Amino acid sequence: MRLNEYLFKELDNILQLICNLLNKIKDWLARLMGKEDRDDFTPATKKSIAMRVNYICSNPTCRRYTLKPKINDPYRWDEVGQASHIVSASRVNGPRADPEMNSEDRKHPNNGIWLCLRCHKIIDSEPDWATIKVLQSWKKEAELRAVSNSVDDDFKQSTIDDLIIAIRSLNSFLDQLLVCNSIDYDLRNRFERNEINWNDYTKNMMENFEKTKREYEKSIFPEIQVALLKCQNILGESNEIVRNAFKSLERSSCNQLTMKDMLPILYELKENVQWR
Ligand SMILES: [Zn+2]
Repeated sequence: MRLNEYLFKELDNILQLICNLLNKIKDWLARLMGKEDRDDFTPATKKSIAMRVNYICSNPTCRRYTLKPKINDPYRWDEVGQASHIVSASRVNGPRADPEMNSEDRKHPNNGIWLCLRCHKIIDSEPDWATIKVLQSWKKEAELRAVSNSVDDDFKQSTIDDLIIAIRSLNSFLDQLLVCNSIDYDLRNRFERNEINWNDYTKNMMENFEKTKREYEKSIFPEIQVALLKCQNILGESNEIVRNAFKSLERSSCNQLTMKDMLPILYELKENVQWR
């Protein structure tokens, strides 16, 4: 290594040490003066954090409204919620502090969760319980709830309706199959009593099965297919349940058992779309 390269590297190390030392002095002075190195949210960020969850507390066991109308003034209201920091606003102090996080990330809406005043107090006094992970999951859940409860969710409702119709149709089709099964049973009896020969027996059985298959493919299959396509639109193409549902639909017309297999899948999809 050349001498100037060596000196440059050493100088870099020394500068790094000075920088760290200055940061420590800054933190120490801030604490001494009662001023913390904070990254507060801007009013616009606070508003977006609140509006994304309809001003409802994001704690799933609370979910209180945080806008309170003033009883005697029809034009005004009180705000009883706060945009709370997930990772502390303060670099070193405060609950869930992370000195490594940069200032931009600390005041980003992603680092904020909307809570009522009471829940804000609780999470800051119990950071060991209200961890970063817990608060992030509350935030995500609250925002998903806002999506699924929004009024423009007609598409979701119509998907659920289609799934219910497909489940009903499939159920009544399977009921009808019981009747077909008794026809098959009669055929078998007649064959065993030598009333019909083997060829006629198998031919009739095959005809019955083909008839069932045709009926399934004509009336039930397309109904399920439409519902699945709508589920795919909501849950995404890579969703495991949707992908398995399409595979099962492909083989569903093979026999009665594979038709029956579609029922629990449709129920599972309905549940997933509902909670989306
Ligand atoms: Zn609350």
